[in-house]
Amino acid sequence: MNNNNQLQQSPSSSSSNAYPSSNPSDITSLSPPPPPPTFSSPSPPTRFPPPPLLRPNQVPTPSVKVPPNLLSPANNGIRTPMSSPAPHLSTPPGPPVFSSPLQPAAVPFRTSPATPQPLAAFSPASSLSLPTSSSPQFSDGAPGQLLHQMSDTAEDYNHVSEHSPNVLFTAHKVLKEKKVANIPSLGFGALVSAGQEVSPGPQIIQRDPHRCQNCGSYSNLYCNILLGSGQWQCVICRNLNTSGGEYIASSKEELRNLPELSSPSVEYVQTVNKRPGFIPVSDSRATGPIVLVIDECLDEVQLQHLQSSLHAFVDSLPPTTRLGIVLYGRAVSVYDFSEESTASADVLPGKESPSQESLKAMVYGSGIYLASIHASLPVAHSIFSSFRPYKLNLPETSRDRCLGAAVEVALALIQGPSAEISRGVVKRPGGNSRIIVCAGGPVTYGPGSVPHSFSHPNYLHMEKTAIKWMENLGHESHRQSTVIDVLCAGTCPVRVPILQSLAKASGGVLVLHDDFGEAFGVNLQRASARAAGSHGLLEIRCSDNIFVSQVIGPGEEADVDSSEAFRNDTALSIQMLSVEETQSFALCIESRSDIKSDFVYFQFVIQYSNAYQAEVSRVITVKLPTVDSVPKYLESVQDEVAAVLIAKKTLLRAKNFNDALDMRLTIDERVKDIATKFGQLPKSKLYQFPKELSLLPELLFHLRRGPLLGSIVGHEDERSVLRNLFLNASFDLSLRMVAPRCLMHREGGTFEELPAHDLAMQSDAAVVLDHGTDVFIWLGAELAAQEGKSAAALAACRTLAEELTELRFPAPRILAFKEGSSQARYFVTRLIPAHKDPPYEQVSEEENGYFGFHM
Ligand SMILES: [Zn+2]
Repeated sequence: MNNNNQLQQSPSSSSSNAYPSSNPSDITSLSPPPPPPTFSSPSPPTRFPPPPLLRPNQVPTPSVKVPPNLLSPANNGIRTPMSSPAPHLSTPPGPPVFSSPLQPAAVPFRTSPATPQPLAAFSPASSLSLPTSSSPQFSDGAPGQLLHQMSDTAEDYNHVSEHSPNVLFTAHKVLKEKKVANIPSLGFGALVSAGQEVSPGPQIIQRDPHRCQNCGSYSNLYCNILLGSGQWQCVICRNLNTSGGEYIASSKEELRNLPELSSPSVEYVQTVNKRPGFIPVSDSRATGPIVLVIDECLDEVQLQHLQSSLHAFVDSLPPTTRLGIVLYGRAVSVYDFSEESTASADVLPGKESPSQESLKAMVYGSGIYLASIHASLPVAHSIFSSFRPYKLNLPETSRDRCLGAAVEVALALIQGPSAEISRGVVKRPGGNSRIIVCAGGPVTYGPGSVPHSFSHPNYLHMEKTAIKWMENLGHESHRQSTVIDVLCAGTCPVRVPILQSLAKASGGVLVLHDDFGEAFGVNLQRASARAAGSHGLLEIRCSDNIFVSQVIGPGEEADVDSSEAFRNDTALSIQMLSVEETQSFALCIESRSDIKSDFVYFQFVIQYSNAYQAEVSRVITVKLPTVDSVPKYLESVQDEVAAVLIAKKTLLRAKNFNDALDMRLTIDERVKDIATKFGQLPKSKLYQFPKELSLLPELLFHLRRGPLLGSIVGHEDERSVLRNLFLNASFDLSLRMVAPRCLMHREGGTFEELPAHDLAMQSDAAVVLDHGTDVFIWLGAELAAQEGKSAAALAACRTLAEELTELRFPAPRILAFKEGSSQARYFVTRLIPAHKDPPYEQVSEEENGYFGFHM
């Protein structure tokens, strides 16, 4: 169908859309309202990007072998990731004492590494958008706990003292006996944060890797090497391979100069400057454009919030970012940045997918639909200011919203004129492009829509069709390296399953917000600032008949063709939907037979195109000792990692409310089973929950009661959004979503960590409770009565809450309230009631205080 005639040139030809008026009085009002102070300070870490080959937070240490041209002062002090374990942090931090106001551990936006940061400058407001890393004392400790392992086992390489924080195992030892190792109630596995930046980053190697001719594994520091011939033995299949003479050496010492033989984590980077379109300028990070797709059916108050958030958002963008703005209601309006004095848009129909002809007419037309911020910032502000509230007298749910067609148009804009030849085939240079949907209601018009009312006789069928259509659109978007995030706000039900399928298939996230205000604005900025690679592939190889039995996370099994051909390559390949810091894969790992060797090996290879258009293969090799002794195994269990893995397995099955109820029961069963299988006391019929896992039951008790499975979250839509976030979330966020962290404000401005029990609620204190997607600040009544004191405590708590969640995506909702207020129940329901023991304690108590019961 030729819809050319419907592609209207603006602005005079249409009045049916929320059309920007060209009234001169509007022009004078174009200077945007000053953004709320909370969003105004420094932009995302992309402002001072390092030279192409290094990721933003990669700080080469003196011992790291990096070609000299890669070293630059600009790498320093840019950003360190959350909870990156400093090498000295090898044990979980003790009860942390927080000084307040909190001092960021790393100062993110400095080009000169030496200047000290003035501390006084950190008011609560300015610290919100300063993405400093959490200081080390906030790190949850678990990554750090891994650090001792390798120095003991890599006999020849005692200087190696760290594991990669990208991979966290549930235990640091592996049980030899298959039957015990595979007991599902506890389970063995790992969390892989493929996109997480680590500091210092892995060593970079700019040549082809040596790979096992038999199984495809990469040579690594645990390989046996025949110094005379340079041959190396694969740790996965034990095949002997040639190194083409490269590993011929007179001593093992000599080989330590090779990064892959001295470090458990290395990165092979393909030479980038051969690639067409490579921009060698260090401050032009070649990110794809961002297109905002905005709901135009908002009431006045909502719209005002949204406008403030949008103004602050564009002010936060790096000047090189290219931005597009698309509005949707009953039609799709595409804003044209070439009009500087008035906001103007081209309009496409929303009833059906845009025709190829109309898209062609648009992208080949004279309008500028993607403009760089440095050239068009005032125009972007004027466009946002021109938005008008919804005019018709219809309830929110009944307004026509053609979100599906609008996303199709946004994709066409990103593809640009080259769309015809390259449609879905040609790999676009650079990292992911982004579409950020700002939605206030359900999709009710055009492709992918559902009827306004649930009572429509055909609703269920139409919903199914809509979900499928959105999922296909998400997949198409993923093929075009474009991630779609859907940020919803307001009280109108958005029909989560439909929008979720769009976001998920593209590698993006869906987040619900109470309104378009603060948390929404922060997430708008964080969504766009997430460092993300594209075309990610995760390969996992395990030695000794160990295999990955289940994967949970943002990916799908890769086509076999996409992996290179090795005769006996047993790698599990996962196509990653996006490569991001805030996501991880949970792997359940089992044995096919009893293990005979003293050590087992795991190799993780993460291949992706980074934001600087380099092809990266990050190779992480892990060596774990094996044991016969169950107590020794249990001692090596990492309670928090194990709890997160169990929680992900459980949540995977909690698809709806009834499932969630069932899953609460399976958690109880699981705890009992762990006691039965691992906790039988010698010569007795008494079982005891293993004391080595003392943290685990409490973490699982929180999971059972908390928002993921419990009754805290009122609406099933909201729980389903949390569930989807959780299944893809990084370890840190996952852990906080399972079990809240409770920090009490102390006299003198320090904070003390307490168990998350309701005993923490003392009337003379203020408490911060971090529950992942929500952070609560609770003020005791006695404290609240003292005006000056309570204001200071509140400010300190607020600062702490912002610091703790600075790099979190999605940013949490932060709520503060006083003891006795109606909102305080949000807080109480998330704590373990001290007057009522967890069920595992109620059965019977052993004298040592651990949970036990008779079978
Ligand atoms: Zn091999």
